Amino acid sequence: MPDGKTRFLIVTGGVISGLGKGVATASIGNVLQAQGYKVSIVKIDPYINIDAGTMRPTEHGEVFVTGDGGETDQDIGTYERFLDQDVSRLHNITTGQVYRRVIEMERNLEFGGRCVEVIPHIPQEVERRLKAVAQGLDFLLVEVGGTVGDYQNVLFLEAFRAMHLRGDPIAFIHVVYLPIPGNLGEMKTKPAQHSVRLLNETGIQPTFIIARASRPVDDVRKEKISIFCNVRKDHVIADPDTPSVYEMPLVFERQGFTRKILEHFNLPYQEGKMQPWEGVVRTIAQAQRQVRIGIVGKYFDIGDFTLEDSYLSVIEAIKHASWQQGAKPRIQWIDSKEFERDSSRLRSLEEYDGIIVPGGFGSSGVEGKIGAIRHCREQGIPYLGLCYGMQLAVVEYARNACGLEGANTTETGPAPHPVIDVLPEQAQLLAAKNYGNTMRLGNCTAVLAPGTLVHRLYGRDRVVERHRHRYEVNPAYIPQLEAKGAIFSGRSPDRRLMEFFELKGHPFFVGTQAHPELLSRPQRPHPLFLGFIQAALARQQPAARRVPAAA
Ligand code: GLN
Repeated sequence: MPDGKTRFLIVTGGVISGLGKGVATASIGNVLQAQGYKVSIVKIDPYINIDAGTMRPTEHGEVFVTGDGGETDQDIGTYERFLDQDVSRLHNITTGQVYRRVIEMERNLEFGGRCVEVIPHIPQEVERRLKAVAQGLDFLLVEVGGTVGDYQNVLFLEAFRAMHLRGDPIAFIHVVYLPIPGNLGEMKTKPAQHSVRLLNETGIQPTFIIARASRPVDDVRKEKISIFCNVRKDHVIADPDTPSVYEMPLVFERQGFTRKILEHFNLPYQEGKMQPWEGVVRTIAQAQRQVRIGIVGKYFDIGDFTLEDSYLSVIEAIKHASWQQGAKPRIQWIDSKEFERDSSRLRSLEEYDGIIVPGGFGSSGVEGKIGAIRHCREQGIPYLGLCYGMQLAVVEYARNACGLEGANTTETGPAPHPVIDVLPEQAQLLAAKNYGNTMRLGNCTAVLAPGTLVHRLYGRDRVVERHRHRYEVNPAYIPQLEAKGAIFSGRSPDRRLMEFFELKGHPFFVGTQAHPELLSRPQRPHPLFLGFIQAALARQQPAARRVPAAA
């Protein structure tokens, strides 16, 4: 920016949560970035938790891990995918973080004897955090979780109001939902009007309204929203359902939204900057073949919708890799407990082109997952194990290929052969209930062994992947596992920690201790997922359906 100032775009939501506000925010970031600006995004979550790490994924979706080890909201993953940018943990602000810092400052006598109050000190800390992230950026988008009118959002809105009053360049963007009740078949704007009124009560007037609905908002309703919400009619932007979320930046661009935002800040707009992203969307549209992927996990009483959110990055990584190979994935959730009840159900896995066991915690459903992994190994079904999915592949191999009866991860309790275990230094922390410090979080380097499948897929000797786990392959068992053909194709630089596990003579059998799904981007699918989908597509050729020779 010529004046060196960051422009703030504050994105709030109205009517209902779960609207796709994260995608809308990320899409605005995407179109502004395409204009050549330095852009990033912050998510505000109004809960008291310091971070998302202590919440189960059925609460707010998956826990997205940043490179610097932050356990953040799933929207951070959406931002990384739409901006092709690694963001830090500082981009997810929670009420808990803000209050903790203010109380720490009070204890440290940093307030010089003054009375510390909710107003102004809490909004001031919010502003301080936003401005720290905004350093060096042209635009900082700030997405506020939940909806306006939620009691817990008030102090954040107060921070923005004060920033606006003091002259920070800001545009307020309010995302509303326009329902189409089945009995009427007509799009209704009244809930949107009420939500803008709630926003007005906090002293904030939206500059733009994004009208989220199953269909594009028509002219008549734009007029209504404009009059009743006191927003220019050309500042009401349609946000209809699209076949893929990645189309949203183009939907915005076509409505002149990019130009209108830049005009608001008196900045020039350049035509024709969306070509690279149009290429991404074209690749998606052109994918014709189908690839059937099963994800085996412990899924009970959750419902498909929550499941999708709990494994959002895994699903996106599968899509990115499939699209690039001309295929549309059909993803099926498979409850591992089914296999515990009736092992003959394992044969149903043969209907899939590839199977994934993703990350997970605890002992429930573990035996079913191990059964599924064994079936994939023995029947030559392409298998990708992510974190827990790698650990359980090692357990399965120890039991069934190395004859270590009762081998297990100690996450399920004591085991005669603890092939997956906590390392001694972690055990001490766990005994002291110091759980916060026992996870390996964020970027870790692995050194890959030449000549392995993993080395070939990455095409590199060293890789950095993000981690989130407590248990490790027990180094004491490595010689026995290797003697029976297990290949640890990547290890930590000190060689103590096993990062990748693979088997020879199988169409594709790879496990990783990391979460590669977190690094997959639509224009840069992750190499492990590319290799997995390639093997899955190859399985569709009858000749490829060979059962591997016994290891
Ligand atoms: N529960 C396993 C551990 O803590 C795996 C974690 C994961 O899959 N993210 O090590």
